[in-house]
Amino acid sequence: MNLILLGAPGAGKGTQAKFIVEKYGIPQISTGDMLREAVAKGTELGKKAKEFMSQGKLVPDEIVIGIVKERLRQKDCEGGFILDGFPRTIAQAEALDRIMAEMGRKIDAVINISVPEEEIVRRIVNRRICRKCGAIYHLIYDPPKRPGICDKCGGELYQRDDDREEVVRQRFAVYRKSTQPLIDYYRKRGVLYEVDGTKDIVSVKSEILSILEKLKG
Ligand code: AMP
Repeated sequence: MNLILLGAPGAGKGTQAKFIVEKYGIPQISTGDMLREAVAKGTELGKKAKEFMSQGKLVPDEIVIGIVKERLRQKDCEGGFILDGFPRTIAQAEALDRIMAEMGRKIDAVINISVPEEEIVRRIVNRRICRKCGAIYHLIYDPPKRPGICDKCGGELYQRDDDREEVVRQRFAVYRKSTQPLIDYYRKRGVLYEVDGTKDIVSVKSEILSILEKLKG
């Protein structure tokens, strides 16, 4: 299954992608994670991406398209993949269509997780992530047992630089302008599935998994 998770930052794409990984064993391809890794390592790519990311702006299309193209060619993507945070612009969606066509593949489903802005802000400013295993917590809805420490691996929890409120509002504005048009783009192709992302994590999970089960036939 070749899948895309669409939704504003903080809609729950990363959380839900991990459930799909567990169930179907296909890799999660998160451009945000790949870019953060490049920034942390201080690579050329990371240096270019850093200024855009810290301001809540999109990294230029050609950079992101390049990393996704390379990633999709790796062996672990042969049985399918989940794109999380890509595409984010129409130009990226068109590039993805070309990449898929070159590989003789297609996108099977695009799942749009919709959540209004105020709920997004409430979620993101309380979001904490494990430095070691990437597990995601919410200080109010899903707190770790010990403050600042990951339940799963004991790693240190941190707040992403771009999870501060003013940057979150900027990211949401970027989402509305550049990414929301993708909902129509994929609806027209008949591959869009809509999920109400304001429900709790487990309900959203079962809704998504039931869509995917039907898809598998
Ligand atoms: P995310 O973790 O998906 O919220 O991404 C964090 C940041 O990485 C975004 O605010 C952008 O600056 C950058 N980024 C991630 N994915 C993309 C993309 N597909 N296109 C452009 N910028 C991206």
